[in-house]
Formats: sequence, structure tokens, C-alpha cells
Amino acid sequence: MTLTDPTQALAELQAGNRRFVTGAPRHPNQDSVHRAAVADGQHPFAVIVGCSDSRLAAEIIFDRGLGDLFVVRTAGHTAGPEVLGSVEYAVSVLGTPLVVVLGHDSCGAVQAARDAARTGTPPDGHLRAVVDAVAPSLRRAAEQGVDDVNGIVDIHIAHTVEALLANSAVLAAAVADGRCAVVGMSYRLAAGEVQTVAAVPSVVPAQAGDRATAVAG
Ligand SMILES: [Zn+2]
Repeated sequence: MTLTDPTQALAELQAGNRRFVTGAPRHPNQDSVHRAAVADGQHPFAVIVGCSDSRLAAEIIFDRGLGDLFVVRTAGHTAGPEVLGSVEYAVSVLGTPLVVVLGHDSCGAVQAARDAARTGTPPDGHLRAVVDAVAPSLRRAAEQGVDDVNGIVDIHIAHTVEALLANSAVLAAAVADGRCAVVGMSYRLAAGEVQTVAAVPSVVPAQAGDRATAVAG
């Protein structure tokens, strides 16, 4: 399957998540025949910039298989240079039409950042880089009077969407040309369900009942 339309790509992801949520996954593209078929080249229809949390495995929660998703995961879905470069590779070289920022409730990286801000004590080692990357979202949450972790998570997802677009001219150009869309999704660990919390362009249709809010663009 080669998808080039952002709206179709989003619909495909949402359909896969629905299968996963309802306990009726098809496990597509995970057999040996498909493995051989995609060995010569990949055309993933979505980039997932997700949190590294072990319960957030992209191919499982979207019920997809080999060659479908180009996955970049860091604790707290931070958007540093290597992440931006990976997204740009997928969008500009592979022609992937959709970038999804995937966060989740009870995110440990967001909790660690909030704890560091409250105590004034940054964590040791490179974990500090993760906490520092989440800090701007914490400040935005504070401005909005949001203090609960899951509320901060949604703000951080929307902030990551904005950061990808602000810091990658390649991605911004692809979105401006209509070749790509960027969508922020929040995953519920217990229910297994994703909800759209941000979308650029805002015309990308959201699921019914989603609390989608369009960010700039
Ligand atoms: Zn997390």
C-alpha cells in the first residue's frame, strides 16, 4: 500500500487504532510474504514521533506491520536535531504524507519535568536533556493554569507539533504544499485509544468526539 494523501493516511491510522481498541486486530503486513515484498524499498504512510514508553508500541496500537510506519521515539517525544532529521528523511526522501506526534497519559517524562520544576532540582546525567526539552510545555501549561499531568501532556503534544513545524523548513514546506499534515494524538494507556489534540492543517478531519484544537497554520 502506498498512500500519498494525508487525509487517507490519517483515516488508515484511526481505523487501525479502532481495530486495536475493540479487540479485533488484523495484524496486517506481518507475514513472510510481505516481509519479502518490502525488502527492496519502503513507502511508510505515517511518521510516528512518539514517547518511548514501553506501552506505546506504534505498530501494535495502530494495528500495522512492516513498511507501514516510520517510527521515531524518545522519552517525552522531544524534537531535537536527530528527530527532526529523521522526520525530514521520511517526508522528503520517502514521501510520507503524515507526521503524528504521539503522547500519552501518565507520561513519566512529563512527570519528571514537573517534579524537577517543583523541586528546582534537575535530574542527573542526560535525563536532564529530556526534562529541559519538556520545560517550555510546562511553562505554557502554567500560563494556562493547567497543573495535572494529563493536561500538561496534551499541551506538550501540541507544543511538539508546533516545534516540528517551526524548526523544520522541510516539513513546513511539505505542509504548505499539501503533501503532508502534522497531527498530535494523545493515547490512553488503559483504553488503548488515541484522540486527536492538534492538527496542521486544521482541515485534517478529526475523529468524532475528539477534543481537537487546531494550532497555528
Ligand atoms: Zn511518556
